[in-house]
Amino acid sequence: MTTIAFLGLGNMGGPMAANLVQAGHTVHGFDPVPEAVKTAQGNGVETFPTAVEAVAAAQVVITMLPSGAIVKSLYAEILPATQTGALFIDSSTISVDDARAIHEQAAEHGFAQLDAPVSGGVKGATAGTLAFMVGGEDDAFAAARPTLEPMAGKVIHCGAAGAGQAAKVCNNMVLAVQQIAVGEAFVLAEKLGLSDQALYDVITGATGNCWAVQTNCPVPGPVPTSPANNDYKPGFATALMNKDLGLALDAIGSTGSRAPLGTHAAQIYKSFAEQHGDLDFSAIIKTLH
Ligand code: NAD
Repeated sequence: MTTIAFLGLGNMGGPMAANLVQAGHTVHGFDPVPEAVKTAQGNGVETFPTAVEAVAAAQVVITMLPSGAIVKSLYAEILPATQTGALFIDSSTISVDDARAIHEQAAEHGFAQLDAPVSGGVKGATAGTLAFMVGGEDDAFAAARPTLEPMAGKVIHCGAAGAGQAAKVCNNMVLAVQQIAVGEAFVLAEKLGLSDQALYDVITGATGNCWAVQTNCPVPGPVPTSPANNDYKPGFATALMNKDLGLALDAIGSTGSRAPLGTHAAQIYKSFAEQHGDLDFSAIIKTLH
């Protein structure tokens, strides 16, 4: 079994670290927030007062942090303190450019490093069914697999460094556009006198089908488990979608891509997030009536 340092024991990192303990690994954790530390201790994580102490005995170092800037500065602190041969896995959602820079930062210290962002939210983190999108070298990916498995439903090697973040940003841009389009369709249907259930039944058996309608249906009724039936409690919070679309805009800008719908979706979610960041992102339908 492996000694794993887990840095960032928040909403996602907490349950992910717990699943690694459950799988029999020794998990050395660090988080600056005392409540996160307390919960992790309750889940069998051995916690340390600093990140440097948490990584000292680790063969694998996992980070699950709010931003690329935080990952970079934490790496600067821990890389010199980590034992030779350790494998670094960053599961935070950060920009592709940051992911590549962080990969280089680790390489300069002689370490293999993977970007491995996830989808599946807190529910997936708790159930151990996250989808990992991984970027980095083949041998590092093979070495990481046994560590990722207890947290994962699916692990996909997407390519070289940054490819995991690229996959995540592209997927979430599609999702944002679809959730708005589905909302527009339900509002238009209502105005045309078509019932929500009839539209749901038709779309889910036809060419417009997608996760945004089939699972995350933005009106109450057709899918009893969708956030629309629970006052749009997330699910996937608008604030997080807004963050991910900001990263998509960064990628569109840095590559000189044209993405008119993705760009417009980012504007729509940016203004919605100012008031309603805590609602599921399917609540965007409220702005379409
Ligand atoms: P969170 O804010 O709950 O957790 C982040 C944790 O990092 C906090 O506990 C914070 O104290 C800790 N932290 C900050 N600076 C640190 C440092 N220097 N060293 C160690 N710990 C530090 O956020 P979250 O929801 O767990 O998300 C974590 C990452 O996962 C983000 O990048 C987010 O975009 C991504 N993500 C979140 C979800 C979701 O549904 N919450 C889904 C997919 C991806």
